[in-house]
Amino acid sequence: METPRQSYSDQKNHLGNNLDLYLMALNSANSGIIITDNLQPDNPIIYCNRAFEKITGYKHDEIIGHNCRFLQLQDRSQSERQEIKKSIKEGTECRVQIRNYKKNGKLFWNELFVSPVKNERGEITHFIGVQNDITEAKKNEHELREEKASIERKIEDRTKQLKDNEIFLSSIIQTVRESLLVLDADYKVLSANSHFLNTFKVTSLDTVGTLLFELGNHQWDIAALKELLIKILPTNNPVIDFEVEHDFPYIGKKIMLLNAYRIEFEGQYKDRILIAIEDITEKREIDRRKDDFLSIASHELKTPLTTIKGLVQLLQRMPPEAATQKYTTTLDKVGSYVDRLNNLITELLDTSKIQSGNIELHKEPFDIYKTIKDTVENLSLATPDYKIILSGNTNAVILGDELQISQVINNLISNAVKYSPGTNTIEVYLNKVGNFIKVSVTDYGMGISAQDKAKIFERFFRARDIQKKFPGLGIGLYISHEIIANHKGTLWVESEIGKGSTFSFTLPIMNVEDNG
Ligand code: ADP
Repeated sequence: METPRQSYSDQKNHLGNNLDLYLMALNSANSGIIITDNLQPDNPIIYCNRAFEKITGYKHDEIIGHNCRFLQLQDRSQSERQEIKKSIKEGTECRVQIRNYKKNGKLFWNELFVSPVKNERGEITHFIGVQNDITEAKKNEHELREEKASIERKIEDRTKQLKDNEIFLSSIIQTVRESLLVLDADYKVLSANSHFLNTFKVTSLDTVGTLLFELGNHQWDIAALKELLIKILPTNNPVIDFEVEHDFPYIGKKIMLLNAYRIEFEGQYKDRILIAIEDITEKREIDRRKDDFLSIASHELKTPLTTIKGLVQLLQRMPPEAATQKYTTTLDKVGSYVDRLNNLITELLDTSKIQSGNIELHKEPFDIYKTIKDTVENLSLATPDYKIILSGNTNAVILGDELQISQVINNLISNAVKYSPGTNTIEVYLNKVGNFIKVSVTDYGMGISAQDKAKIFERFFRARDIQKKFPGLGIGLYISHEIIANHKGTLWVESEIGKGSTFSFTLPIMNVEDNG
């Protein structure tokens, strides 16, 4: 409840008419206080305390007798002035923040309370004005407002930028000719692009919000795939080329290649997974047809060639009586060209066998040094312009298909000769590394660019600039690579363009128990 106001005479009694105390109290106040006499013309100031002198910079004598408006100097158009005028006219209280000026002309913000003072008959005899210099607070308030506005502007800009980025990204995602899905951390689909919806003949309603593993007829519900996907977020290890062969709803049997990555977009969406799905059914079918063709064609070519070879051998064994030297050398040439053709066709057959996984290994223990030595000797005879230097030795025994391994060495040395015209040295080095033997073939020829290095072990790859200059099918290294891999070794190359290449392979040395 509100305490009833003390009457004027009550207060008077209480203070015992002690004027000094009033004055002392007023002068100790921090707020500037003035009293104006409303009964005199122009409402002059009849009292001001010390704080008022301090705030305004004017002395007591320069203040008394003036109307308060001198504090506004020429700054008269402020609406707050009308407010003060109105409350003086109507005898009400008012509170304004108004621009005032000190004696030295410096602006200060004055928070002014004006209240009327009434006598016992209720007439307004005076006004009391209480003022506080709030310049500092105003300045802070202004700065705060500015800062807020600038932060708001920044947020607006950033939001716009993000929105633009999002539109940009989503337009890429929608246009890309690959099926894309974005999943949240629980593998629920957040979005699917139009290529996905078109490929799988589904709607966004069937897809978005559903768990990946529950899509369609659960085609992606594969334990091995789940295991890989679970690792993506914590380890950032992508899922690369995961093949799914499945009878999909609406589109039937297809082979899909799936790649999945953690999305890292300025740290914002890092708990999301992007899945790209490629339909490779047709590509596989074309590859298969190509392989079938190769295998049939080489088979068909080989049969008459074997007969030709037999006939040439027959003619060599039974030369006519009048056979000239030219006759025999020509026949020998035919024989060696038939051999070359036969080797090429065998290589082609080998590739299709490798592709279909039908290559057979006839494993027997053999002395690797002897195999290499024999191959080097044979090739040295065939290429008398080159010095093929064999160094290193090991008495290691390898358990494997000797014919295939000698085919690898043969390939590497033949390539070294073929791709190093104008040089005359090839080095073959054999040594033991741990439980393996390592064989290196070094030439000082044309070398291989870094770009080509990644591809030379692929089927039918030939470096662009040599295609026309040197004969070949681009399968020797592919076959060699597969042969070494089948023997649990590795084949690789180190090379510098213009300086030469070193092809090396390893093979595990046979343990005594291996043969048991
Ligand atoms: P081919 O020799 O029939 O082209 P390969 O599979 O043996 O097929 O070799 C593939 C490609 O690798 C070659 O075409 C050539 O570009 C490159 N290559 C192989 N060996 C060497 C080598 N010693 N120096 C430079 N390039 C080589």
